Amino acid sequence: MSDDVKQYRRVVIKIGSSSLTHPETGRQNLGKMEHLVRSICDLRNQGIDVCLVSSGAIAVGRAALGIQERPKATSLKQACAAVGQGRLMMTYQKLFAEYNHTAGQVLLTKNTMVNPVSRENARNTFLELFRLGVIPVVNENDSVSTYEMQFVDNDTSNVKMKFGDNDTLSALVAALVGADLLILLSDTDGLYTDDPRANPDAELISVVEELDDSIFGMAKESTGSSVGTGGMATKLTAARIATYSGADMIIANAADVRASLDISSGNYVGTLFKANKNPEFDLASYVTESIG
Ligand code: GLU
Repeated sequence: MSDDVKQYRRVVIKIGSSSLTHPETGRQNLGKMEHLVRSICDLRNQGIDVCLVSSGAIAVGRAALGIQERPKATSLKQACAAVGQGRLMMTYQKLFAEYNHTAGQVLLTKNTMVNPVSRENARNTFLELFRLGVIPVVNENDSVSTYEMQFVDNDTSNVKMKFGDNDTLSALVAALVGADLLILLSDTDGLYTDDPRANPDAELISVVEELDDSIFGMAKESTGSSVGTGGMATKLTAARIATYSGADMIIANAADVRASLDISSGNYVGTLFKANKNPEFDLASYVTESIG
């Protein structure tokens, strides 16, 4: 991706539950969170606006409450999220403060995006936070909302938008705040020509100039996680929203957060989807038609 290094000014970064927690216990992966926060602070120190979309509320709440099985009942997921979201923010606040930065929590629901007044209020809040130098930490407001916790099914052809996964949410946020880059930190290096776990000849695609049917055909479900909701299909939905709204999007591996957030590195490993601003793409009508 070295030819494509460019100077970004506003970046949205999404990280999923499986990257923020240890698979053995479900408890917070503090080393990973520390690297994530330090890299974000370094981007801020370069003058770049950064917004973090962080999952993990349900997973962290589950661990805190000692619940072994992935909860099925909505009320239990919502209770877990209520506990976990607070714990997550406590960790983020502490880590950001260590590097002299300030984080602010923004919890969104489907209605925030669909209702024009709420959407505008949310946008103004984000812009004010950026102006103040604060790093917004975003999640879905899982404890009060029921749309958000549907789990994406394994149908690889299902690339239609589903509010309820943070890949899509982060792309909506990127479009809302006029970001020029969205980074999805994932459990894979990027988009492959085939499922790399099943096909050793699968190749990593480093740059996608334009989203077309051949790209959507590669959307094999790649998540083996029991805590998150995203797969490659939701990442391509995110790519559509981000690139049409004028932002580049990168899928990169969360295994090495520091390398994956080193966006000026010439040796960057990941898949870059190039911005392809579509004059017909309008966030308001898109969310209303897709999830309204
Ligand atoms: N909002 C959910 C949580 O924080 C996660 C959704 C997702 O992983 O996409 O637990």
